[in-house]
Amino acid sequence: MPFYHNHELMNDNSIPSNKSTINADIGSLITKNETPISPAMKITGVRINYLHICHTKLWLFSHNITLEHEHDNVNIGKMLHEDRYRKNTKDITIDNTISIDFVKRRSGIIELHEIKKTKKMEDAHLRQMFYYLYYLKQRGVEAQGVMNYPVLNQTREVVLTQDDESNIEDDMRRIEEIVTGRMPHPKRIRICPKCAYFEFCFCGEGGE
Ligand code: SF4
Repeated sequence: MPFYHNHELMNDNSIPSNKSTINADIGSLITKNETPISPAMKITGVRINYLHICHTKLWLFSHNITLEHEHDNVNIGKMLHEDRYRKNTKDITIDNTISIDFVKRRSGIIELHEIKKTKKMEDAHLRQMFYYLYYLKQRGVEAQGVMNYPVLNQTREVVLTQDDESNIEDDMRRIEEIVTGRMPHPKRIRICPKCAYFEFCFCGEGGE
């Protein structure tokens, strides 16, 4: 079954009571388009995100070298999910390819919502959202995105344009090139000390 969900598609401001009807709703939207997915479509949102953060991280992650562990950053993220957005957090995964914090339908339009702590990685987060919208469009589902920044008390609507689609296709080509090549040499950047791969990349070099 191509569509997985931990929770349900929500109406504007309430958790629906009829889960099966609403699940079937988005499920049928996605499966009614029979266009086959190309192998390139198996790129995940996380890989798009890492492409815009660090190519070494993208390569390591794509080669199943995972060193993710509990970190203060992660804990703050969990707190955000479990506190202010408790009612809305749903963690929906589609095709094991895209993972969305929660989904709403507003005035008939499907809205994909992501919850972020800060805007420090805004470009990478936006690219990830563009990829989700692009992916769903390829499956025949028109949607728009909303980035939620509860700590900043801000939201940002994300609409996929033709240029964004071209950029995503470029991103997919670049990911393929990077992942099929040799591991990119780690270059220290601002986020390195908070990255799960830090010791792997800079073992013996000491911290900042
Ligand atoms: S520690 Fe830095 S260089 Fe290494 S994977 Fe993480 S972000 Fe990239």
